[in-house]
Amino acid sequence: MTLFPAMFNDFKRESLIGKAIEKKLLEINVFNIRDFTKQRANSVDDEVYGGGNGMLMMAQPIYDCYKKIMEGKSNIKTYYMSPKGKTFNQEMAIKMSKETEINILCGHYEGVDERALQLINTEEISIGDYVLTGGELPAMVVIDSVARFVKGVLSNDESTSEESFMNNLLEYPQFTRPYEYEGLKVPDILLSGDHKKVSEWKLEQAIEITKKNRPDLYEKYLKDKI
Ligand code: SAM
Repeated sequence: MTLFPAMFNDFKRESLIGKAIEKKLLEINVFNIRDFTKQRANSVDDEVYGGGNGMLMMAQPIYDCYKKIMEGKSNIKTYYMSPKGKTFNQEMAIKMSKETEINILCGHYEGVDERALQLINTEEISIGDYVLTGGELPAMVVIDSVARFVKGVLSNDESTSEESFMNNLLEYPQFTRPYEYEGLKVPDILLSGDHKKVSEWKLEQAIEITKKNRPDLYEKYLKDKI
């Protein structure tokens, strides 16, 4: 549910998401909230009660759009993209990928009338501690990361199992051809053919980078290991 449906056009066409839609592994239906407004001049927003800057999306067009989507359906969770939400992570993406259908509400301007959120009973999700102009990019972030866990979207050699966050560790450094570039060589261990040693090296490197960049995650890794 969005006021800017065209923002999703390329997203739905390109790369892995485009291919997944083509293969019918995934369906993304974009609803224009403006199509549901009963206000004069097709308006969808108004001033904020009690003062404050900017405009707020009105509850009526959002709730009517939601009711249309939900016709003949039940038990579909609706997520509202919001900086006030719980911070999105890989664990949430995996959980959401198990749902057959989800709704996502994208806010804009100063956000949406609280009553729309209450009526729909949304769960709020933030993609990080910063404020964007709208929920469309966050929605695409969520859809993209959830889609990667939908069976068949990634091929086997693009599997998610060794990626960052999977064991509370960030991914180890990776290299491709040529062996030497601008005087920099691929670590010899990766060419040794010794699988045990290669695995140990990858783990060491993953631990190092996690300690350095994400000490919070490293703490979790240590805790889960016990
Ligand atoms: N006034 C709101 C506040 O202070 O929390 C911010 C509104 S923001 C300018 C407009 C819309 O962008 C929000 O309704 C939300 O849908 C989306 N948005 C902005 N930052 C976001 C974030 N970090 N994560 C998810 N959605 C976000």
